[in-house]
Amino acid sequence: MPYDIIIVGAGLGGLTSGALLARAGRKVLVIEKSNSVGGAASSYKVGDLFVEGSLHETGNPHDPRDPKHDTLSRAGILDTLKWTRADALYEVRGGPLSAPLRVPDDFDGALEALSERFPEARDAIARLLDEMKQIASAAGALAQGDAASRRPGDIYNALMSVAPAIRDWKLPLAKKLQQAFGDNEALKCALAANLCYYHDDPATLWWVYFAMAQGGLLLGGGHYVHGGSQRLSSALAREIKKAGSETILRRVVTGIEKDGALFRVHHTAKDGSDPKTAEGTRVICNAAPASVAALLPAKQAKPFLAPYESRASSISLFALTLGLAKPPREFGVSAYSTQLLPEWMTRLADYAQATTLMADEPGEKMPPIAIADYAAIDSGVPAPPYVLSVIAPDSLANWDGLDIDSYRAKRARWQNAIVAHLDRHFPGLAAAVVSASFNTAVSVRRYLGAPGGAVYGFAPVPPRSLFNGPKRTPMTPIEGLYLASAYAGFGGYSGVLQAATDCADTILREA
Ligand SMILES: Cc1cc2nc3c(=O)[nH]c(=O)nc-3n(C[C@H](O)[C@H](O)[C@H](O)COP(=O)(O)OP(=O)(O)OC[C@H]3O[C@@H](n4cnc5c(N)ncnc54)[C@H](O)[C@@H]3O)c2cc1C
Repeated sequence: MPYDIIIVGAGLGGLTSGALLARAGRKVLVIEKSNSVGGAASSYKVGDLFVEGSLHETGNPHDPRDPKHDTLSRAGILDTLKWTRADALYEVRGGPLSAPLRVPDDFDGALEALSERFPEARDAIARLLDEMKQIASAAGALAQGDAASRRPGDIYNALMSVAPAIRDWKLPLAKKLQQAFGDNEALKCALAANLCYYHDDPATLWWVYFAMAQGGLLLGGGHYVHGGSQRLSSALAREIKKAGSETILRRVVTGIEKDGALFRVHHTAKDGSDPKTAEGTRVICNAAPASVAALLPAKQAKPFLAPYESRASSISLFALTLGLAKPPREFGVSAYSTQLLPEWMTRLADYAQATTLMADEPGEKMPPIAIADYAAIDSGVPAPPYVLSVIAPDSLANWDGLDIDSYRAKRARWQNAIVAHLDRHFPGLAAAVVSASFNTAVSVRRYLGAPGGAVYGFAPVPPRSLFNGPKRTPMTPIEGLYLASAYAGFGGYSGVLQAATDCADTILREA
């Protein structure tokens, strides 16, 4: 008997759609090339160092306005996992800010903190935060409700449907903040210091997306999955199994063929041996469209790729995980999330320069970095060593043309430079580093198969038109073949869970 649905990839997108479909009675097979489920949403150990593969912050899944709320509830795991609230949205230091500023993770608190520092802009701050709240609430509310009435790409459609009512719906973030705050660069940096959670360039980041995502964190607070993101991924995999479906690991999908109404999905062991074929009536791809195209016969690959060709990929990130002998607070790290802006960054627009810094040898210029101190909250992350995660934009091009030894040597030089930079802000920290693991854009491409090392699917740039812009949808030009990933909606945990839910609901509706 063929499977009802074969899913290529057990990242958050594949696991979520798999759990929803299996719990709805479909016979599902999930095929994953790695040794464990989760894709980017994985946590693991390197020696005794706990490495959180991705998660710093996501919105509160227990808030009904959060896009994850209904999905996790339907997947049966909303109350199985413990979610720990962050202590603030972040503390921002450096750049054009005269002193560190702690921005709370609720709208009222953020308004107070920002207004206290920038009293002359109080009204403008209030207006902007209010717009963000409306957009985030509208997106959350429109994504809720009856699965049967949902349409593919609902969050995106929801945003587009309210777009004409949203002032400046077509603007990039830079222009929106310029209108709101003029040349007050310190205020702009205070409000968008965690830019790399979404993109690297305020001049091309869609303001409405920023409002939805950053506003989502301010609606119900930033949260972390207690014990690490692996707990979320493994819980989804368990639901697939409990519902009588299966996930197989260490199997690489090497080809997808369509024969009438039936799909044949070819897969092998990691070394290419032991070829097998699974048959299914539908296929969901968790991998990027460019990777999926490489699995299709040439005559199907071209039409499949057509809707995606004009879309730019999202940014990549590097993630340096440091194991410290002492809790980071002993060196002055005073928040769960710290956004450390470098001295050379005097305008928010300067953030865009960060992505290519690693093309050169480390010098004076350090990137703006986002730091998570997992010992600052009840994260469930084991310690010692105390885990400090440091992320910033990166690009595959930064590492082009290097053989493996040169790549490792350059990466080690950057690691030393970043640790020295941290030590200047948090004296004594460097001497406490006892272990480290450094993933770059190259690691993202190698381990997740993401083309260009993209971590958020397609770049969240402003739509060109209300009606003719590219759609963010699980549907593909090939009947019976769907996407469930950051590429079918937006990146990040909330975006991917929502896109995967759209995918599952589309299939359930068709059936
Ligand atoms: C360093 C870092 C920090 C981040 N921080 C945050 C954060 O704080 N908050 C937030 O919300 N988001 C964050 N993100 C983003 C978030 O993790 C991702 O957007 C999301 O997890 C992507 O999920 P996905 O299912 O689309 O893709 P992936 O996680 O890439 O999953 C794709 C899966 O498909 C598998 N696969 C691919 N090809 C094949 C094949 N041929 N055969 C079998 N399997 C295959 C891959 O192995 C992988 O498991 C971060 C990401 C990174 C890298």
